[in-house]
Amino acid sequence: MTASAPSGLSSVGIVGGSLAGLFHAVALTALGLDVDVWERSGGRPADRGAGIVLQPAVARFLREFCGVEPDRVTVPVTHRQYFAADGGVDVLPMRQQMISWGTIHQALRDALPAGRYHGGQPVTGLAHRPDGATVRVGGADRAVDLAILADGSGSRHRGLVAPAGAPRYAGYVAHRGVVDEADLPRELVARFDGRFSFWDGDRSQFLCYFIPGDHGAVAAGRRRLNWVWYARADRSELDRLTTDRHGVRHGLSLPPGLLDPRVGADLLARARATLPEPLRRLVEHTAEPFVQAILDAHADRMRDRRILLTGDAAFVVRPHTAAATEKAAAEALTLHRALREAPSTDAALRAWERLSLAEATAIHRQGVGLGRRLGLDSPEATG
Ligand SMILES: Cc1cc2nc3c(=O)[nH]c(=O)nc-3n(C[C@H](O)[C@H](O)[C@H](O)COP(=O)(O)OP(=O)(O)OC[C@H]3O[C@@H](n4cnc5c(N)ncnc54)[C@H](O)[C@@H]3O)c2cc1C
Repeated sequence: MTASAPSGLSSVGIVGGSLAGLFHAVALTALGLDVDVWERSGGRPADRGAGIVLQPAVARFLREFCGVEPDRVTVPVTHRQYFAADGGVDVLPMRQQMISWGTIHQALRDALPAGRYHGGQPVTGLAHRPDGATVRVGGADRAVDLAILADGSGSRHRGLVAPAGAPRYAGYVAHRGVVDEADLPRELVARFDGRFSFWDGDRSQFLCYFIPGDHGAVAAGRRRLNWVWYARADRSELDRLTTDRHGVRHGLSLPPGLLDPRVGADLLARARATLPEPLRRLVEHTAEPFVQAILDAHADRMRDRRILLTGDAAFVVRPHTAAATEKAAAEALTLHRALREAPSTDAALRAWERLSLAEATAIHRQGVGLGRRLGLDSPEATG
């Protein structure tokens, strides 16, 4: 896909090389811009949203900007199934496609020209300058015409654009797990195959679905089963859940492999006491459960002059919307279109901010409403 950006805009610096950063990098490279992405982690950034429900903007992005046909890299579901406490199951037709964070990340990395993704290079400073910004990396300043902050919910530079609206804990966590299909008994695979499964408990919800395995593999036998179990946790419980087996505190999330065995034992006991049998067995088959705190963040601005705020750095939306990655892709598509069509860079950036703020605000509200309806918000955390 080729098109061009307004004159006077040539270099773009992107802070953060996860999904939001890469969507923007690929979309702006397609406009002929000179784009660099700086990512602080040296390997692959943490796979925080293991399973992702594919939505239209991500599908369009993969097809049009990455040359990847979504059908090839997604696992289809044809039905939703709702488990009841008495063991019954309600099944409704509902077609969706499931993808993984890693599959999207790889497609975006592959679409970026060589030498433009700089892993292991944290951005330590960012400042406005006339008609651009200065990005500080590796002790040197780099002048760019446009800087995009895609450094996630913990953004250290957010305050340059939106001092208000920093993330806060919503009062509940997602216990998560990913299990290789090959490690699951066949009858359990059959229970979940082609289904998006749900169970609503007392102020708790469990859901699961198959996602691609390594290298985007979608063939039966090579996929993974991804589950998420939302549960309330006050601040002290959050600390306990995210303190690892060596006593190190991780704050808002705990990666796979580090769960304190006592927390693991509690999780299993709760699964055995409350979950319907197939879901309980799924938790029992999970070698390395992990934990993520659910956060809320909503910026009141997404732009100051030539610095933009995007993805989770701007808004952290609740995962019940299944729309966080979609929002990041849509913001990149909106920027691509605005820069292609607007008469000047500043007019394009104004239009992008107006459209993106409206869209993100609506998704954010929807997510908070869904969390409340499930009884998950804790009054102590949300005020
Ligand atoms: C429980 C849970 C479930 C989720 N499920 C879904 C789902 O089903 N569907 C969905 O669409 N989304 C889901 N998400 C959200 C999704 O993972 C993110 O919204 C999406 O990946 C976009 O994030 P991002 O790129 O803005 O930020 P992040 O993924 O947080 O990336 C920020 C990046 O910036 C880097 N960085 C930070 N500071 C610096 C710096 N100073 N210099 C350089 N680099 C820096 C970080 O290392 C990181 O790689 C879920 C999230 C949670 C918590």
